[in-house]
Amino acid sequence: MPRNVDNFKRRIDYLRISITDWCNLRCIYCRPRGKWKKLPHDEILSYEEIIQICHIAVRLGITKIRITGGEPLLRRNIIYLCENLSRIDKLESLTITTNGVLLKHFASKLYRAGVQRLNVSLDTLNPRKYYEITGKNMFHKVWSGIEEALLVGFYPVKINVVAMRGINDNEIGELAKLTFKYPVHVRFIELMPFLDNPEEPESRFISTDEILNILRDVGTISPVSSSNVNGPATHFRFKGALGKVGLISPISHHFCPSCNRLRLTADGKLRACLFSNTETDIKTALRSGASEEELEAIFHEAILAKPEKHSLNQVCRSSVSSHRPMVAIGG
Ligand code: SAM
Repeated sequence: MPRNVDNFKRRIDYLRISITDWCNLRCIYCRPRGKWKKLPHDEILSYEEIIQICHIAVRLGITKIRITGGEPLLRRNIIYLCENLSRIDKLESLTITTNGVLLKHFASKLYRAGVQRLNVSLDTLNPRKYYEITGKNMFHKVWSGIEEALLVGFYPVKINVVAMRGINDNEIGELAKLTFKYPVHVRFIELMPFLDNPEEPESRFISTDEILNILRDVGTISPVSSSNVNGPATHFRFKGALGKVGLISPISHHFCPSCNRLRLTADGKLRACLFSNTETDIKTALRSGASEEELEAIFHEAILAKPEKHSLNQVCRSSVSSHRPMVAIGG
């Protein structure tokens, strides 16, 4: 049996690495108010440690790596990390998820460092609403970052939108229409209940079925196949559009049977399911001089710890049980 196959015959070939738990935004659905404490510097994996883990991961069958956070572009020398990861033999894809605030400065450097694709999180086209969602007046910076990314050659640039009733549901059509004007993929993501937060009531949840109905009012939309068969998004295209629209349904149509992901937190824990608190510590072994074989065994153990499915659903959202908010897991 290949060492990246879990107990439910899923091939785990996608590693998402959170390189920092720090973020320059305070999105209402992501980061807890007040009580969140940043990890101490020495708890965070160094770039050399991350690179070592990635070599092990690729040897075990990981072919795709996504760098995320927190906000990954906040971490110093991220270009050094990207250059080193993109050189790993047999790694097929290196991508980044960013809030885009610093993207204008970094886009061409990331491109040259071998990053193949970017996902930029942007929930609204309205600067005032952007402030309400993120706590920062950064809409124009993000937008110029997206333009710069397109200019330097990233294709597609994926724009991730967390859909929230009463906040941005009236913009779903406008956001989707970006695909007519720009070669972007706009992906609507169901709101996941991570925070015990009165600012994020359950009534904000919008299912992707409802989003699809809204999109049908915007224009003629047809399903399109995706090259990424393991990705969680189902894709559509408006007639005549340059880009695609994606729907990601972690709650209403969860994709656990085809989930191919493993996460590495900034403090060196391998996490096999976003919604499960089970974590496998690889940092302690790494720092105490474990051999490559021992580290491979720990990585394999993390893969075998992947649960068959998560227990979240639309009705029973209170079952969420993460001791880490999203900002600390790496979305
Ligand atoms: N700072 C980067 C960014 O903003 O893209 C990367 C980290 S962020 C945690 C990664 C993704 O997780 C973002 O697209 C964000 O919108 C998404 N996310 C965070 N909390 C979420 C939630 N409660 N439900 C759905 N998506 C969420």
